Amino acid sequence: MSQNLLKTPIEYLKGVGPKLGALLKSELGIFNYEDLLHFFPHRYVDKSKYYKINELTSTSTEVQIIGKVTQFREVKQKRGSRLVVQFEDDSGTIELVWFKGIKWIKERLKINEPVVVSGKPSLFSRKLTISHPDIETLEKHRAQKLSPLQPVYPLTEKLTSRNINQKYYKKLFVNLFTQLKDTRFEEVFSEAITKQFKLLTKKEALFNLHFPKDINKLNQAQYTLKFEELFYLQLAMLVKKLVRMHKYKSYPFENVGDYFNQFYKEQLPFELTKAQKRVLKEIRNDLGRPVQMNRLLQGDVGSGKTIVALMAVLIALDNGFQATLMAPTEILAIQHFNSIKELVEPLGVNIKLLTGSTTKKNRTVLHEELENGSLHILVGTHAIIEDKVLFKNLGLVIIDEQHRFGVAQRAKVYKKNVFPPHVLVMTATPIPRTLAMSLYGDLDVSVIDELPAGRKSIKTVHKRDANRLGVFGFIREEIKKGRQVYIVYPLIQESEKLDFKDLMDGYESISRSFPLPEYKISIVHGKMKPADKDFEMNRFVKGETQIMVATTVIEVGVNVPNASVMVIESAERFGLSQLHQLRGRVGRGAEQSYCILMTKDQLSDDGKLRIETLCKTNDGFEIAEVDLKLRGPGDIMGTQQSGILNLKMADIAKDTKIMEYARYAAQKLLEEDPNFTKEENKNIRIKFEELQRSKLSWSRIS
Ligand code: ADP
Ligand code: MG
Repeated sequence: MSQNLLKTPIEYLKGVGPKLGALLKSELGIFNYEDLLHFFPHRYVDKSKYYKINELTSTSTEVQIIGKVTQFREVKQKRGSRLVVQFEDDSGTIELVWFKGIKWIKERLKINEPVVVSGKPSLFSRKLTISHPDIETLEKHRAQKLSPLQPVYPLTEKLTSRNINQKYYKKLFVNLFTQLKDTRFEEVFSEAITKQFKLLTKKEALFNLHFPKDINKLNQAQYTLKFEELFYLQLAMLVKKLVRMHKYKSYPFENVGDYFNQFYKEQLPFELTKAQKRVLKEIRNDLGRPVQMNRLLQGDVGSGKTIVALMAVLIALDNGFQATLMAPTEILAIQHFNSIKELVEPLGVNIKLLTGSTTKKNRTVLHEELENGSLHILVGTHAIIEDKVLFKNLGLVIIDEQHRFGVAQRAKVYKKNVFPPHVLVMTATPIPRTLAMSLYGDLDVSVIDELPAGRKSIKTVHKRDANRLGVFGFIREEIKKGRQVYIVYPLIQESEKLDFKDLMDGYESISRSFPLPEYKISIVHGKMKPADKDFEMNRFVKGETQIMVATTVIEVGVNVPNASVMVIESAERFGLSQLHQLRGRVGRGAEQSYCILMTKDQLSDDGKLRIETLCKTNDGFEIAEVDLKLRGPGDIMGTQQSGILNLKMADIAKDTKIMEYARYAAQKLLEEDPNFTKEENKNIRIKFEELQRSKLSWSRIS
């Protein structure tokens, strides 16, 4: 019966009724008591804290100030009028403004009477102002015995226009909890889990969210609800992974043989880093099992992913299988092909390149060798995916720069053998750990978190337009030393025309500052034909030009070790991870490299933080964490499908620890009770099935 009470339609709650009930439904999706219980405050105001006027800024949240009104006047405007009130304390003065209810306020304002004003300061005609604050006499304010933490709930314009405000919400929750006083709430977790992870009971957690006793209890309540939410997210991921393990059989590579061993002893041009060794071990483990490997290899630019991938390829060869490596662009494919060929040809390995520009004649030979098995490694672009490309016995697929390949394309690769081949996806876009845990919970993730020894870290500096002459001088010096330079312009869809003009203007001024015949310049942008682009890019790769002016098309993978300077124009307009990617184009040779971030004079707070972060660190994971905090998970690939964006309480960027606890709990549960058959896990099963169902129908709709 208790559960039924929670399903009571919202209009039956004291203080609601049919009219407001309809509004709560349409505006907030609150249909019954349970929905209201789960309508969470978006923040809390600390009612024990009072601000001084000189502490306020336009970014302050809700504040309380004690002071007095010194004068007020009504100002006529086009429509109606506004009431402007001078308010002061012993630190300064601020204006309070009302646009509505002026008559009512005016009647109650008393000059020089001590009052408490609460509201949110903002800039109005360049002056710090609080509009429509709550105002009450100090006497009355002190008479109320409020908990120091007051919840603030979301409001919409429509609700406000119907006089729904924080006081009304408060009344609703008082009525709701009075109604539910004797109701027992179903606990989700077994006593063991509740105890081990120090969770509150469901009822205590929900109560304290709406009526926090103190900050401690509030923290515990939030922790409990976040834990629950993340638990189901992790459970879903882990179940998906289990399903995959049963579903996708593949070929076990049982031997590590001559190709691998000979390469390791005779060809490996350097000692592997610790991280590379660890990752290689993880991959070997996967490949040895009769289950498809589905592994994401993350590693910052230059961390040496390719060599690890190559060694996995050699294991495939040792077991009589073929392997293929796909890159997102022709230039990258060619670079991979050349460097890998050099390393494996001494072993007697047959390796070939397949791209859109492979001639028909070469293709014929290639297809034949691929089908009779005499071709061991195929490197190439999307061309590899085409149905007519058939392998005799494909065992391993390496995909470089994962985000350029779609899911559908990857699925095609799976069909290239009777069982799907093992898959290793490499990406240089670091994804923070928490996010990886939820995005790729069903994928295994390896991380190379260490650069090869002796790498000089790139020096990053911030320069403003006024320093341009100095920057150009620096570029000349580097070119004199024989180095090459990138100058990159943003190209962002919304103002593509303007951006393009910036690029062309920039190109012109660079051409004037770096004249022929001493300096030669390449230019590459998205409006060029692919063939022209490749031509220009190749001139730079071969060292025939010293400066490459480009849009972000150069972001992915190009390797020109001789390039030592990366100048990024309008750097404030790029996202953090994109800036980091661009910077990774330099620092690939033995020379000291530089990244120069050019910006306009005035930067937004976010812009400043991005630039400072980049100047401070070269660590892609650290940068990714900041990026996640700044942008939220919404902009990161894959988040749409993961359910992360539907989280109500937890914040993927901040709740790292809770996520780890939740994952651990979910893992343990699946080990001990994989089908949730134990009585104590009954409620987990019910809720989990409910969630899976709602997710299913949701994905069918979209
Ligand atoms: P990325 O991870 O960006 O794909 P690469 O695989 O292209 O990086 O490696 C970058 C460079 O570092 C290559 O020239 C590679 O030969 C070199 N390299 C890789 N591993 C090591 C190592 N352990 N020691 C020294 N150099 C290495
Ligand atoms: Mg690479």
